[in-house]
Amino acid sequence: MSLHTSAVERLCLRDIPLSSFSTYGIGGVANYVAQPETTQDLAELYRDCNAKGLPWYTFGMGSNILFPDQPDPETVFVSLKRFAEVKVKDDKWFVSAGTPMSMLSLLGLSGNSDLLDFTFLLPGCLGAGIYMNAKYNHRQICDILDTVYYMDMASPDLSVRSIPARECDFAYKQSIFQHHPWIIVGADLNIPIHSEEQVRYVMSLVPAWKERGSHPSSLPQFFSFFLGEAHALAGKGFPTPQSMLDIIKYRTSKRHFDYPSCGSVFKNNYDYGVAIGSLVDQLNLKGTEHGGAVISPHHGNMILNRNHAKASDIRYLMDVITEAIHRKFGFVPEPEIVLV
Ligand SMILES: Cc1cc2nc3c(=O)[nH]c(=O)nc-3n(C[C@H](O)[C@H](O)[C@H](O)COP(=O)(O)OP(=O)(O)OC[C@H]3O[C@@H](n4cnc5c(N)ncnc54)[C@H](O)[C@@H]3O)c2cc1C
Repeated sequence: MSLHTSAVERLCLRDIPLSSFSTYGIGGVANYVAQPETTQDLAELYRDCNAKGLPWYTFGMGSNILFPDQPDPETVFVSLKRFAEVKVKDDKWFVSAGTPMSMLSLLGLSGNSDLLDFTFLLPGCLGAGIYMNAKYNHRQICDILDTVYYMDMASPDLSVRSIPARECDFAYKQSIFQHHPWIIVGADLNIPIHSEEQVRYVMSLVPAWKERGSHPSSLPQFFSFFLGEAHALAGKGFPTPQSMLDIIKYRTSKRHFDYPSCGSVFKNNYDYGVAIGSLVDQLNLKGTEHGGAVISPHHGNMILNRNHAKASDIRYLMDVITEAIHRKFGFVPEPEIVLV
């Protein structure tokens, strides 16, 4: 490799379908896709993009994103899926942004703690989980954070800064990171370290995930990896707790892993007080199809890619739901998925 190879040349794959980087399985061919594994590579990549005037778009597992059918040819798409690491630093768990949130449930289980159970089978990486303040039932990602580390993309040096979790303006699906050009690189957890054995086990999970679980962004592959690891832990004397068994039951009954999707399409409107899924149900829209997409017959707030759907098919059904809710219930639902 030449010493003068630029970071964009070194780190980018060319002509890659974004569909393989999204749990929707949707997205056209991108000219540049990078999968940096270290903070140094990440910073070099952004610096090179800035120097070349190339826009970039950073994402995790692509489980909350609708990529376009025709991506902008100039944009460098930066996947953090291989930017995964768990380690002990200054007596705290440090978890980097590309680590799957579901891995945290195994970290908790192997340390005899139930504080992280809610992340079991929650698709997506920690960085986006912090950005979106992902949640399950009444537990949110912000509950388990001590300090968040990020790069301020507006600063010339792109050095890593930190912010205490209590200053991150977390609320329902909200965080400070949605209002600044900041890329989250990782976080310290406020979860105690239990034992050396736990640390060794958790550190062995990341290489296993990189080898077997993380590519492509396939929901069945994600499900089988974490179900398999929970079974393996049970064999080592850490039985799967009822809370995690309930999650398996809930997510499989809602068919979360059967078809490509991005989970809930709209945020719930807590002022209105009824979940969007129930409103879609009341409107008899479940099962409505367009192109290759369908409003899930099992969950009114999910739109599935049933048969080679295009981004335009998903957007069409989003418009159908939006207009029907506005007409009947008088408010415009806010999208939860990110439309790139
Ligand atoms: C079947 C299914 C079930 C789901 N269930 C739930 C659920 O119960 N609760 C819930 O909250 N969500 C749920 N989701 C949605 C999804 O799991 C979360 O939104 C998750 O946080 C997305 O993670 P990701 O890595 O896939 O993010 P992506 O889709 O890759 O990115 C989402 C957004 O985060 C930004 N982003 C990503 N990484 C970073 C970073 N490091 N720094 C700054 N910004 C970043 C991206 O630019 C984008 O705007 C579900 C999704 C699916 C497919």
